[in-house]
Amino acid sequence: MRASEYLIPTLRETPAEAEVISHRLLLKAGFIRKSASGIYTLLPLAHRVLLKIMNIIREELDRQGGQEILLPILQPAELWLESGRWDVYGPELFRLKDRHGRDFCLGPTHEEIITELVRGDLRSYKQLPLLLYQIQNKYRDERRPRFGLLRGREFIMKDLYSFDRDEAGLEVSYRKMFEAYNRIFSRCGLVFRPVEADSGPIGGSVSHEFMVLAGSGEALVLYCPHEECGYAANVEKAESRAVRPQVIEEPRPLELVATPDMRTVEEITAFLGVGPKNIVKTLLYETDRGLYAALVRGDRELNEVKLQNATGAVRLEMAGPETVQRITGAPVGFAGPVGLDGVELVVDEEVAFMVNCITGANRADAHYRNVQPGRDFSFDRVADLRLVQEGDPCPRCDRPLVSARGVEVGQVFKLGTKYSEAMGLTYLDEHGVERLVVMGCYGIGVTRTLAAAVEQNHDEHGIIWPVAIAPFTVVVVPVNVRDEIQVELAGKAYAALRDAGVDVLLDDRAERPGVKFKDADLVGYPLRVTAGKMAGNGLVELRVRKTGETRLLAVEELVEAVRAFLQA
Ligand code: ATP
Ligand code: MG
Repeated sequence: MRASEYLIPTLRETPAEAEVISHRLLLKAGFIRKSASGIYTLLPLAHRVLLKIMNIIREELDRQGGQEILLPILQPAELWLESGRWDVYGPELFRLKDRHGRDFCLGPTHEEIITELVRGDLRSYKQLPLLLYQIQNKYRDERRPRFGLLRGREFIMKDLYSFDRDEAGLEVSYRKMFEAYNRIFSRCGLVFRPVEADSGPIGGSVSHEFMVLAGSGEALVLYCPHEECGYAANVEKAESRAVRPQVIEEPRPLELVATPDMRTVEEITAFLGVGPKNIVKTLLYETDRGLYAALVRGDRELNEVKLQNATGAVRLEMAGPETVQRITGAPVGFAGPVGLDGVELVVDEEVAFMVNCITGANRADAHYRNVQPGRDFSFDRVADLRLVQEGDPCPRCDRPLVSARGVEVGQVFKLGTKYSEAMGLTYLDEHGVERLVVMGCYGIGVTRTLAAAVEQNHDEHGIIWPVAIAPFTVVVVPVNVRDEIQVELAGKAYAALRDAGVDVLLDDRAERPGVKFKDADLVGYPLRVTAGKMAGNGLVELRVRKTGETRLLAVEELVEAVRAFLQA
């Protein structure tokens, strides 16, 4: 391929609208262009990367017995009504009508349509297990599309669905996919970590996310640095061992104290001269299952996903000032569990251990001191409600957890019988008994993986592509296109590499050498070959993008040297 004939519209200026590095570099290096918010065109270079990632995905899924299909993007509302998701999916679902006024949506995910497909053709247990996948555009009207390809409204996903006879079969399929994902992201040359993820209040029991580690990632993960332990989870799911107070005090009698205008934990601790660990925060939530008060220690944050799981609520929102006033009889900042009626109390494990704590008194400008859980108030439920922080003890081995940021590139999920039950997907077992199919689903954000690779692999000059997914492995640059000897040697190097099956681009543009070198670094080809001053002696320079290491070699040695680099 010749750069003079290829569309690589690199920019001199850094695009101002881009907030994260992958977005900036992909625009600047001529990989993508924006069409509308969260909607992008992939230019030739990005398309080459995409095909390489897809190819790795296909090879690894096929190796595990996956079969590729292509499901419709345009999906009839009836199927979504059957599964019950037409109403709960909310504004993220792109909905539209056909000319007859019938409702459709653009697929944000494909459980419904594939369940219907398999339902039509599955008869016997002999047809199971089944692993079906596709690689295709997905549509989600995200509340905040941002960060370029990382969070789009139209993006490319690989989604695979597994169909098994029972839980044991699902376990086998799940493990196969787990292994496939490990192999896919390793082969892409990415540093990643599978972590436990929350599977939500409905259906599924087990889920993992695959995180590409990058400082700018939206996702926060907590992991145990002790390798033999290996505990790792995303922040929504992460657990920590509950810490008991070191000194157990004698319970003292309940006491009302005036706390004029003191609402926050900081204000109360300063005013009463106590630590935040002595305080209990009472947080009121309105949910589809009624009102809840969640109690966590003053130095802790509440994990709303855990509260959702503890209560079984699907929708959950912090109560507004009016509701707080109505329920507690006091303005925001003075809620407490003592004498609180009409709400269910859910108490964090650590709060249940506390002695002589401070809580709001459900009246303006007052708190209680020496509150004793169980004595001064009774509670409906004890649960783990804490948002885990770096340094909290690992739930398995007690060592302090470490946190890291990452980009979620994939998720695997045991669905169980959620969809087969809702949509009547059954098979006949060997005794002729009708049984529900047990399902799993497994997604990879393909365009997000492309961007995550850039988030993780770049420097101040540009992208540094992992070899396996680079748009071209080598760029060959004649330094001066008016120098016949240089041009000829560059042409020879290019032909030799191309004939050896290496992905190579010849930068034959009549640009200044500085421009071509800058572009080569910006685009991020793993290797650069230059034909310059030493061309007269048949020598070219081979430079490694990642390390900056260079060496001179005869053009005849080039193919060997590149092969050695690729195998290293
Ligand atoms: P997120 O929590 O980031 O919104 P999700 O959990 O809703 O993602 P899944 O339904 O698990 O996403 O989709 C599978 C994969 O598709 C994700 O792991 C991610 O890599 C990718 N993905 C999801 N939403 C987007 C998006 N808006 N843009 C690009 N990729 C996405
Ligand atoms: Mg996910």
